[in-house]
Amino acid sequence: MSEGWFEEKLFPHVRQSFEISRIIYRERTEHQDLVIFETPTYGRVLALDDIIQVTEKDEFVYHEMMTHVPILAHGRARRVLIIGGGDGGILREALKHDVERVTMVEIDRGVVDMCLKYMPSIPAKAFRDKRTDLVITDGAKYVAETADRFDVIIVDSTDPMGPGEVLFTEAFYKNCRRCLNAGGILVNQNGVPFMQPSEIPMTWKRRRKFFKDTGFYVAAVPSYYGGFMTLGWAALDPKSRAVSPAVLERRFHALRLKTKYYSPAIHRAAFALPRFVDGLMR
Ligand code: SAM
Repeated sequence: MSEGWFEEKLFPHVRQSFEISRIIYRERTEHQDLVIFETPTYGRVLALDDIIQVTEKDEFVYHEMMTHVPILAHGRARRVLIIGGGDGGILREALKHDVERVTMVEIDRGVVDMCLKYMPSIPAKAFRDKRTDLVITDGAKYVAETADRFDVIIVDSTDPMGPGEVLFTEAFYKNCRRCLNAGGILVNQNGVPFMQPSEIPMTWKRRRKFFKDTGFYVAAVPSYYGGFMTLGWAALDPKSRAVSPAVLERRFHALRLKTKYYSPAIHRAAFALPRFVDGLMR
């Protein structure tokens, strides 16, 4: 941070900068550097180890697409597991569905506490919901050891470095497969392919060893620099991806979901990948 600007240092030769109106909070937690700052364009912003994680103004794009696509495709999800997701945005969206329980496994309590305190619009009341089960531990360890089973797993992790690295390994995907019920679906944060092309073949090869249907869908998240963001898709049943528009519409309207990005039409369209992204799956 210099002269009132936050500079994201995710990529070696490209940086994006956010003008800082005010630094709200900063600490070195047990796992990562955490800073929350105010900006004129994006509202409040959370960064971990100098990488943008979530902003008040555009969080709806990513949280809606990471949550409603797998849960509406599944159609009967009762148990949802969130790995990471410390800001509470995915949890907030998952609780809008008719689910029995949402288990959230976050390694860093500091992220949960500081987002609740300084970015309350993102978690809203999600952590107080009686269906929420918050577990503070490493997500890779959790899926290796839990006896619980889930219908949808949403891996809302940091990038494959530092504490997030284990959430992109073959062992992690194998254990996620172990924790899914029949018809289960896993989705994961898979980076911006124009800037992080290696993340596509890396996760696709690892996930396809354990899931019948693997691929990606896209969302345009303004603060994730470099164009479309890819979200990893891995389903035990290939029919999950091909749910018809009419069925999606029925499920979506039954919930009376108020969304700002997700719609059944964009759900289907998001799986139409740019050719350069298709070409990375090999
Ligand atoms: N939406 C953001 C993105 O796309 O980069 C991610 C936001 S969320 C804040 C990422 C969370 O993953 C952080 O709270 C971080 O603490 C958590 N995390 C990183 N590694 C983890 C691990 N091994 N187990 C559980 N949570 C982890």
